[in-house]
Amino acid sequence: MTFGANQTELKAPTVAEQVSETLDRDQNKSQDGHRDIKSGVREPARPSAMRESGAASTIDDTSRKVFIKTYGCQMNVYDSGRMADVLAPAGYSETDEVADADLVILNTCHIREKAAEKVYSELGRLRKLRDQKEAAGGKLLIGVAGCVAQAEGEEMVRRAPVVDLVFGPQSYHRLPELLARTSNGARGIVETDFPVEDKFDALPAAEKKKTIARGRTAFLTVQEGCDKFCAFCVVPYTRGSEFSRPVSRVLSEARTLVEGGVAEMTLLGQNVNAYHGQGTDSEDWSLGRLLHALADIQGLERLRYTTSHPRDMDDELIEAHRDIEKLMPYLHLPVQAGSDRILDAMNRQHDAATYLKLIETIRKARPDIALSSDFIVGFPGETEEDFEATLAIVDEVRYAQAYSFKYSPRPGTPAAGNGEQVPEDVKTERLARLQARIATHQLGFNKKCEGEAMRVLFDRRGKRDGQLVGRSPYLQSVYVTAPETLFGAFADVRVINGFANSLEAVLIDGKQPRSEGAHHS
Ligand code: SF4
Repeated sequence: MTFGANQTELKAPTVAEQVSETLDRDQNKSQDGHRDIKSGVREPARPSAMRESGAASTIDDTSRKVFIKTYGCQMNVYDSGRMADVLAPAGYSETDEVADADLVILNTCHIREKAAEKVYSELGRLRKLRDQKEAAGGKLLIGVAGCVAQAEGEEMVRRAPVVDLVFGPQSYHRLPELLARTSNGARGIVETDFPVEDKFDALPAAEKKKTIARGRTAFLTVQEGCDKFCAFCVVPYTRGSEFSRPVSRVLSEARTLVEGGVAEMTLLGQNVNAYHGQGTDSEDWSLGRLLHALADIQGLERLRYTTSHPRDMDDELIEAHRDIEKLMPYLHLPVQAGSDRILDAMNRQHDAATYLKLIETIRKARPDIALSSDFIVGFPGETEEDFEATLAIVDEVRYAQAYSFKYSPRPGTPAAGNGEQVPEDVKTERLARLQARIATHQLGFNKKCEGEAMRVLFDRRGKRDGQLVGRSPYLQSVYVTAPETLFGAFADVRVINGFANSLEAVLIDGKQPRSEGAHHS
């Protein structure tokens, strides 16, 4: 139905519409290199299978809907998908309309500045939606997951009594059990311990139809937590110490994803290259060895991994970049700063020279590799000279892309209490200079691609009619006029323009290129 202008003006939005609009507006907003992504897969309700599991036998089995809003990194995107998987047997199907939801989960991220405050304001909006639903005789459960939930714990329930569940990243496999407790009248449940059991053991495999609906690219978490304790970072406190999933479990999940049509897989971990999972021979396997085993899966075309620490970039992994054709020539290897004094203050456990030497070794193994990094400007005590060392490392490496942020203190981290905080205007000015420098190299990298033939996987539709957007091996967005039949397929293209943030390309020879396994549904 379409409304005329006057009708629209006269029609006051309901609370549900206001909440929905707020959540929509936030979707894909980019800040600090992190995106907000809301739940987007709507599926028919399915009958509850909970009686079989027994874990939530007290949940009634009428079908319900869950709206999951995801903030932050790819790990959270993966976790939200797994939350949906764990809720499916409890009778919950996903909805992308908050107003339709019986359960709303905010899967939060602590990387952003004032992350907790933003969650509290969203909870205020959800409280109004809940009041509206209750006035109409309905119900709405509200859960907060992720790193803000882990960090806030009991405090969240105290400040926002509207919250029914607060659970950390290591506890979401217990969602059916927590929901069962709410159905018995419990409110304000907090579950932020680091459980002794492996949550991955308790998670059900995604249904094939869900995997298909999620597209041809997928994330797969292989490692969680971090033991590095960089002075600015909350991850070791919110995600706990390093844990690597056993190889057999990773391979099994990967095979299931490939059976569901996934052709490109990104292995995830807060410190993914510290991976040391138990191998099929009971030895500890490195990430390099795991990549070899994954590359043997038929139908899996492309592998990536993120995020890595320079200290954990071992020979086996570097050689994997040389030897595994399916491993894409792209590496996100954050350096954070170029000054040894600041790297030391950050507790990064490497200096600039070691990092540059490592880059040289990686480039010898894979000369065309696209390199990416994170940078923090204005870390406490950073002088102009320190900052210039950061610009120097950007020039030296010539990153194909990079994420850069102003330092902002994260409560509970060592750097937050440092008295030498850099003034905000200085941080702003340095960030602008750094971003201009990064942009120059990014444009240079994209321009060098002009005239090149490359294979792309079309995974998005462009804004223009008849336009598809693919991912290049170097993770650039490639815009191509192409038939809809190629959506979800690989195609060979030739780059005709390199822009600041993307490439423009044409299908090779204007012919229908070789297309492997166009997505089935
Ligand atoms: S290595 Fe990465 S995840 Fe670990 S503490 Fe440092 S920044 Fe955080």
